[in-house]
Amino acid sequence: MSVRFVIDPLDFVRKTEVHHGRIPLAEFSRLQDFLHENHGEIGYQVSGFIDQDDKPRLRMKITGEIQLCCQRCLGGLMHRIDIDTSLLLAKTERELILADEDNSVDAILATAEINVFDLIEEEIILSLSISVRHSEGKCDVHQSEYCDPTEIANPKNPFAVLDALKKKPH
Ligand SMILES: [Zn+2]
Repeated sequence: MSVRFVIDPLDFVRKTEVHHGRIPLAEFSRLQDFLHENHGEIGYQVSGFIDQDDKPRLRMKITGEIQLCCQRCLGGLMHRIDIDTSLLLAKTERELILADEDNSVDAILATAEINVFDLIEEEIILSLSISVRHSEGKCDVHQSEYCDPTEIANPKNPFAVLDALKKKPH
């Protein structure tokens, strides 16, 4: 992607910094595959803080509306993004592995340079279901139809979906 917003995450937390802004959807290169059209932008806020266990975290709030492709009819499907998550900043590989074993914790390795826009794109992609589609029988009226949240299965754990796909015989 062409836009970069690089921080030293631990320094960001130390200074309890907060950044917010808007990013045009067209700037997200990996997200393009999911989009029916890439007009518009998303809003974000990222802030550094120390949690109750004295661990550094980045809180990310991401909001906006995007036009996804319905996987049944390939028509446009409005989807609201409303993400509010916090990422534990693991200082070592070992800490990252320990955090990954706990399913309730999202962690990233606190490297000296983190591109926040990449993190935002990652969070948006993770929040999308692989089975995005209009409700049954609604494929002809795409423009006003909103994504049916009941069809979004397990959005925080896309790897479970991947595992299921891998186990499928070809
Ligand atoms: Zn459809």
